[in-house]
Amino acid sequence: MQDERERFLIRYAGDFAPFVVDTAEGAWITTKEGERILDFTSGQISSTLGHNHPKIVEAIQRSLREVIHLNSWMVNDDVLELASRLAALLPDPLVRSMLLNVGSETNEVAFRLAKAYTGEFEMVGLTRSYHGLLAGANSVTFSMGHKGYGPLVPGSFAIPAPYEYRCPIRHCQNACDKLCLDVGFETVDQASVGSLAGMVVEPVLSTGGIIPLPDGYLAAAKQKCEERDMLLIVDEAQTGFGRTGTMFAFEQDGVTPDILTVSKTLGGGVPLGATITSAEIEDRCADNGFMHLTTHVSDPMPAAAGVAVLEVIEEENLVERSAQMGEYLTAQLHELQDLHEEIGCVRGRGLLVGVELVVDRDTKEPASELGAAVTAECLRLGLSMNIVKGDGPQRNCLRMAPPLSITHEEIDTAISILDRAITTCTKQRAGSGGAE
Ligand code: PMP
Repeated sequence: MQDERERFLIRYAGDFAPFVVDTAEGAWITTKEGERILDFTSGQISSTLGHNHPKIVEAIQRSLREVIHLNSWMVNDDVLELASRLAALLPDPLVRSMLLNVGSETNEVAFRLAKAYTGEFEMVGLTRSYHGLLAGANSVTFSMGHKGYGPLVPGSFAIPAPYEYRCPIRHCQNACDKLCLDVGFETVDQASVGSLAGMVVEPVLSTGGIIPLPDGYLAAAKQKCEERDMLLIVDEAQTGFGRTGTMFAFEQDGVTPDILTVSKTLGGGVPLGATITSAEIEDRCADNGFMHLTTHVSDPMPAAAGVAVLEVIEEENLVERSAQMGEYLTAQLHELQDLHEEIGCVRGRGLLVGVELVVDRDTKEPASELGAAVTAECLRLGLSMNIVKGDGPQRNCLRMAPPLSITHEEIDTAISILDRAITTCTKQRAGSGGAE
């Protein structure tokens, strides 16, 4: 099977998983070989509802019977229904949406709106960020490195992420006072050619190592933007729609972004994203000739799925459930931390949780090889988890993002597998005399 994959597919992210999927339901994937795997990546975070929720399947089937695709300037009821529901869910003045496909595209559109609105072009992002791999989004994605993929979009600046476990300016620890934001903007102000258009942030830096922004950070960032007539863009690709225990993660700081982007978690597994802004911003952009058109803008089928996702979140009380189950998952992980010295830090919000592995709790040296070994062992034992960056030269942070419908039993199963995997891998490393 591996041969076939390597013969016919471009290896877009290194190796493929060591199995081919047959079916998936809820938190479980079944492979072609009949093995069942507990999916704590929620289909790479893209379905908060779990795999193949019957309501999503039904909505997609209904929509496909009605109309598969429309010319971009036509819309149907599902598109209008989703846009109006988003407006109703969001605080004023976020009322106007553009329905798109993947997260990268929602950010490209956000940047184009910020440029059309301000007439400027420079964009500020955080180190450890991930906003996508299309040109503009990639230029402010700093968690992956850019080696070999230049040139980047001119006027793209990085400021240090408020990584509380490892303060980037060696100033404070686990009690961020946001000096890094001041330092970052001092640098930006000196480097800028005086054409700042926007700042983009994730409320929890996810691919960069599950790093929640400290309390008050978004409010302080908004103030920095206002002082410079820039727009604040919040990217909730991973955090939106209940993942972090509130409907949107930005709510925590009581700050409303100028532009919000959502994707992964809106579509229940199908490619659906949205860029949302105020009437005031949209009106000025339209007056300034804003244009962005891709083939699948306002597509009916993903919109139907999105409406169903919002209905299920409400019907199944998934936002509250995410907060409760997130607390349970985090408590279990803290218990595991008492057993394993290698767990340096457990952090996150709701059901978006990171476990950072270290060689030594005092030095915090990242245990990247252990991270890779533990995820591989977990998979062998039937648990799928992502490994993301944290501070490893490769990666040392386990990312857990199960469906919001996850049960206590499923969490217990995952914790027991993780416990066994860490025990096995640390014994093996000790046996081979292996430091990282
Ligand atoms: N923003 C964030 C916060 C993301 O995590 C991602 C994907 N990891 C993206 C944007 C890009 O989304 P996509 O891969 O769907 O283009």
